[in-house]
Order: sequence, then structure tokens, then C-alpha cells
Amino acid sequence: MSTETLSNGKAGSSASGSSRQAAVAAAHSYRSSSTPLEFIDSTPETVFGENVFSKSVMKKRLPKSIYKSLLTTIESGEKLDPTVADAVAAAMKDWAVEKGATHYTHIFYPLTGGTAEKHDSFMSPTGDGATIAQFSGKELCQGEPDGSSFPSGGIRQTHAARGYTIWDVTSPAYILENPNGTTLCIPTAFVSWTGEALDKKTPVLRSMQALDAQAHRITKLFGHDAKAFVASTAGPEQEYFLIDKGFYYARPDLLNTDRTLFGAAPPKGQEFDDHYFGAIPDRVLAFMCDAERELFRLGVPVKTRHNEVAPGQFELAPMFETANVATDHQQLIMQVLKKVAKKYDLVCLTHEKPFAGVNGSGKHVNWSLGSSEHGNLLDPGDTPHENAQFLEFCAAVIRAVYKHQGLLRAVVASAGNDHRLGANEAPPAIISIFLGDQLQDVFDQIKGGGANSSIPKGQLEVGVDTLPPLDKDAGDRNRTSPFAFTGNRFEFRAVGSNFSIAGPLVAMNTIIAEALDYCASKLEEATAGDDSKLNGAVQSLLTEIMNECGDIVFNGDGYSDEWHAEAAKRGLLNNKTTADALPALLDPAVVSMFGKYGVLSEREVESRYETYVEQYCMTVRVEANLTKKIARTAIFPAAVRYQNELAATCANLKAVGYDFDTNTLDKVTSLVKDLQDGIDALAEASADGCEDLRKCCDVVLPAMLKVREAADALEAIVADDIWPLPSYQEMLFIK
Ligand code: ADP
Ligand code: MG
Repeated sequence: MSTETLSNGKAGSSASGSSRQAAVAAAHSYRSSSTPLEFIDSTPETVFGENVFSKSVMKKRLPKSIYKSLLTTIESGEKLDPTVADAVAAAMKDWAVEKGATHYTHIFYPLTGGTAEKHDSFMSPTGDGATIAQFSGKELCQGEPDGSSFPSGGIRQTHAARGYTIWDVTSPAYILENPNGTTLCIPTAFVSWTGEALDKKTPVLRSMQALDAQAHRITKLFGHDAKAFVASTAGPEQEYFLIDKGFYYARPDLLNTDRTLFGAAPPKGQEFDDHYFGAIPDRVLAFMCDAERELFRLGVPVKTRHNEVAPGQFELAPMFETANVATDHQQLIMQVLKKVAKKYDLVCLTHEKPFAGVNGSGKHVNWSLGSSEHGNLLDPGDTPHENAQFLEFCAAVIRAVYKHQGLLRAVVASAGNDHRLGANEAPPAIISIFLGDQLQDVFDQIKGGGANSSIPKGQLEVGVDTLPPLDKDAGDRNRTSPFAFTGNRFEFRAVGSNFSIAGPLVAMNTIIAEALDYCASKLEEATAGDDSKLNGAVQSLLTEIMNECGDIVFNGDGYSDEWHAEAAKRGLLNNKTTADALPALLDPAVVSMFGKYGVLSEREVESRYETYVEQYCMTVRVEANLTKKIARTAIFPAAVRYQNELAATCANLKAVGYDFDTNTLDKVTSLVKDLQDGIDALAEASADGCEDLRKCCDVVLPAMLKVREAADALEAIVADDIWPLPSYQEMLFIK
């Protein structure tokens, strides 16, 4: 629905017949038209992974030696034997064709943060007028999509634009269904002709390799010389909004930017907390069951669902997986949520702040590292003060986060996330670590020279005899911390809901690899092969790290003003906006770290900086243009119609000898002036096309906000039947 249509109501009449009224009516009369799932006959166990070319499918369909060779690559990170490709391709194609596939696609993950695909048919002509399905090892391993229009931050110019997709054997292939055919999807890395990473996946894989190498040095020092690949693991919790699709199409701002650029606060917001963890509305639950079923069939282990804090907001969390697979699955989660929502006449919004004044959405990325042989390396056990290896890994995380606060803030920076971070609903823009009472105490002891005790977990006393006794966790939760230890992992809570989790994972893997490298080198040097020196060396290293980097640890309320003042005193960074945060990517310490661990070359880092700056500016540009357009063609006309109505009433009353209190007319008139002035100022601010990061942040966004302030004030007084845009109340509460 374009803004022209919105403003086409007859002058002086209500905007009824407007898309707003139609949307409200449609939402009220919603009836499910999708066929119910057969949830009794086909249970979750039977459908899980049915569309995945999984290890068990490979085991059944591949010669033993080939399967074994693949498995060592997948599980131990060994080099892929290229001679297996033909056999795997043939088995994959047969499996896919049995499932109705006619096409395959190399799925890749460009720097836009989205998922890209280009389909090719299996069919090749045989020369005698017939055609057969074929798929070679070469086609499996390597593709050459054009894709030159994706942002590359200068790595590819259109005249030198070769780019390859390369099969990632560690992330399983799967089938995507459509009523008219199915497609075999093969996750791939996307690189330039020169081998530079054009995508989000390649650096994830490289950073996992770097982390594995450094983690092994530490576990070896502690006498656990296991061979298994130490993988980083990720469990991303996804928050999102659902609104009726009619409202979405009646709001050009949502349709184009996924967020409302206008909208007065509803009389009732989230203050009652009556939505949070409330009974899930039927229509929403039907959607969730359907989406989860789809994800299950794709082998995505979704586990948790609930209502979130804001009205209309929900959350879904999968079980954690290795970082690479979790990243690909997270992309699928967003894709499936959006696709299935449409079946229920809903739209799923993953923008970080679709509605001003109510909570925004994040993606909490739970992170740890470990392997089948090493276990979870961030598991403290019951008495962490005695668990030197755990303390070593934990101290490495503390050192890494302290040294690279700026980078962690940069990898969660976006135009959307700026509306959320620091807004007393999401962690502040200041990066700090929450350890919880028990670990805080242990590390405090370490700071003083050595730890001798761990506060016992204890039991929970409720005072009701019929309730079972509960073992308490060692630490409480802290929802205000951007980087919180939650029992056996860290939770990076500052990631935006619309992000690919690749960037945050690459940053975490690499900074922690660097810190582990530092620790391993120190310990190797201090012990020089003599195990009896290990304990003393660990003690002094931990104390040194806590004294140098302990200021990053903060257990209190991250939303409070006191913390902002205290953090400034400690010299912690507080990069409030993307414009402040992104330059940290180019910090020489960051660039040399990425280079040293083979994760990103200097050019690759620069290309990312340029791409993210460009994306930020483009977002601001589109929002500025829409703000002007909607303000001019939908809001201004509604306001002057109402103004005209009031003026006409005034004149009519005067004519028959009555007085008319012009208070409202005065207010509308003054707001209409503010609106017009605001639009003019925004037009001027954005006249040069919004290409400068600082200017977008410091000049264009505040100018947009001025227009919004006038418009939202008008929404609060203009006659409701004239107001063209669906209101917050309608969008958030009609389900
Ligand atoms: P919360 O109480 O924080 O909302 P959830 O149950 O919603 O917790 O999500 C916790 C997430 O942490 C899940 O995705 C879970 O699989 C993940 N997780 C658990 N253990 C690990 C681990 N070792 N590494 C990474 N993620 C983990
Ligand atoms: Mg959760």
C-alpha cells in the first residue's frame, strides 16, 4: 500500500475506506485458513531432520570409507579429501530427487547479513532429445554465482568480480519445500577470485580453527591432550514481534524499513507486564507450532518458546550447536519464522526496535567452547576455586573482553540496534562482564593473591513443606549485563534481533583465541615442561590478569546512572551509537589480531568496515526519505483536514453568535507548523544523500525525530477517524 493511496480519502471526510480501517476490520475477522498439523500421527521424533542430508543419511547411502573420511572432516576438522566429492554428490542428488528436488542451490551468506541462493537444475540434455538428472562432485564443491551486486567493501569491482561458493561439509545440506517443487540447499562459503572472504561464513570457520588451536595448547598444559576439535558452541535466543499482516501493509514505514517511523505511545503499554510469559494467544501458538515443525524437519533443534515483555513480542530459542551450524540454523530460523507467519496472516518483525517506547528485540548469543572429549571448557564444577583449567579459560574470556570492548561493541552496531542498546531494556552500550556471586568471589580472592574457597551453592528455602528442596544456582541472573556468565557459558546479550550471529561469533572466537594464546605462552614459558611449576604459574597469571583487566567485571545494575559514572571512572568505553562504535573495527590492535590468527586480512577487515558504514547510511537514508514522504502525503493532509474542520466549526458557531474555544485549533495549527518546519529541516539535512556516517547520526536522525515528535503529538489530538496510519494500540494488541 503506497502513501498515495493512504492520502486518497476525500477531503474533509474521514479516511475510512482507508487501509487503516480495512486492516482493523480484517484483523478482527481473522479465521485460520491453514490446514491443522497432523501432530498425533507424525510426532516430533519422526519428523526431526527428515529434510536434512544428515550424518545418518550419509551413513546409509555412502560407501563406508567415504563416510568415514567425511566424518573426520566434520568432527575433527581434518582436511577434506577432494576425491570423495563425486560419490557424495551422487548420493546427495539421489536423496534430493527422491524428495522431489529438481534444482540445487549453493546457499551463501553475504555481508548484508541475509541468506543468498541461486538455483540450478539437475537436468542435463543427453543429446538424443532426452534429459537426465546429474550432479557432479565439482558442482557440489564449487559454484560461481555472479553475486557481484552484494556489498564487498571494495574487494570486488564489477570489472574483476569473480566469486566462488565452496561447499561447507561441516554444515549439512537440506531440502527447502515449496508447493510447486523442492530445492536441495548446500551451505557454502563465498570468496573472491583472490580467495578473500566475501561472506559471513568464511571468517566463522577460520575463527573456529584459530580457537581450536589455542584451546588445545591450554588443555595440553593441564594434561588433557585430547585430539577432538574444540569447537565454539552457540545457542542464540531470538526475540521477535508478530503483527497482523493488514497493519503491516497499511504502514509504509513497516513495509519498507521494518520499523514504525511514527506512532504515538498507546494509552496502555507494557507497564502491567501482563504479556510477559502470559498464556500464548491461540493464533500465535498455532503459528509457533507450525514454524517449529518446519524447523524440526530442517534439523534445527528449537526448544523454548514464550511471550516476551512487550505486547506482541515473543521468543524462540534452539538448543546450542557448534558455532558454524548454529549460525546457519539461525539464518534458517529467521527465514522460517517470516515465511510461516504469512500462513497465519501475521508478519514477523525481527527489527531491533519496531515500536518506540516499548521494548525492542535482541538475540542473546550463548557462547562456550568444548568437545566430546574435553567436555564444556567453561563448566566450573561445584568448587571453581579448585578448577584451575576452568579458571584459566574464564580468565582468558575476561582478558579478551577487557582488551576488545570496542570490537565487541562494533560487531553489534547497526542503525536498528542503536535504538535499543542503552535504552533501559537492553544492555547498555558499555561492555562489561557479569560473573555472579560465586565466581565474583573466587576472582576477588584471586586478585588478592589466590583463591581458597567457593561459596557453596546451597539450597533454596521456600517455607512450604510440600515443595521439594531445590539446589540453588551458584550465581543469580543479571539481565542488565551485556556479557553475563550463566552457569557454564557466557551470554552476549547486546546482539540485535536482526543480526546474523556470525559477526559476534567471529569476534568472540578470535579475541578468546588471542587471550588463550597469551595465557598458553606465559604458562609454557613459566613451566618450561616442568609440570610441578604449573600451579604457581597459573596462580600468578590469574592474579596478573585480574589486576590488569578486572575493571571489566561488574555485577550490579547496568541500567543505572551510577554504573555509567563508575564505568567512565574505570576508563571503560561507552560507544553510544554506530557512528561511535564502528571505527573500533579499524583499531590497529584489532586489525593485527585478525591477521595474526588468519581470520581476516587487513583488506577484509576494511571491507567490512566500509560495508557496515554503507549499510548504516543507507538505512538512515531510506528512513529519512520515508519520513518525509509519509509526513507530507499522509500525516500533513490528515492534520490540515482536521484543522479545517475545527476552523469551519469556529466560523459557523461565530456566525450564529456563539463563542468557540480555539485551544485545540491553536494547538493543531502550531503542530502543523512544527511538522512543516520539521519536514523542511529534514529535507535540508538529507539533501546530500546521507553518505556520511557522522552526519547521518548527528544531523539526519535528530531531524527525523523532530518530524516524528510533531506527528506523534498530532496523532494524540487529530480526530481518530481521520488518522491514516494504524495505531500502536491496534498493531500491538489486536491478535
Ligand atoms: P535463558 O534463561 O537465558 O532465556 P534459554 O533456555 O532461553 O535461557 O536459552 C539458553 C540458551 O543457551 C539455549 O540456546 C541453550 O542451548 C544455550 N546453551 C546451553 N549450554 C550452552 C553451551 N555450552 N554453549 C552455548 N550455548 C549453550
Ligand atoms: Mg530465553
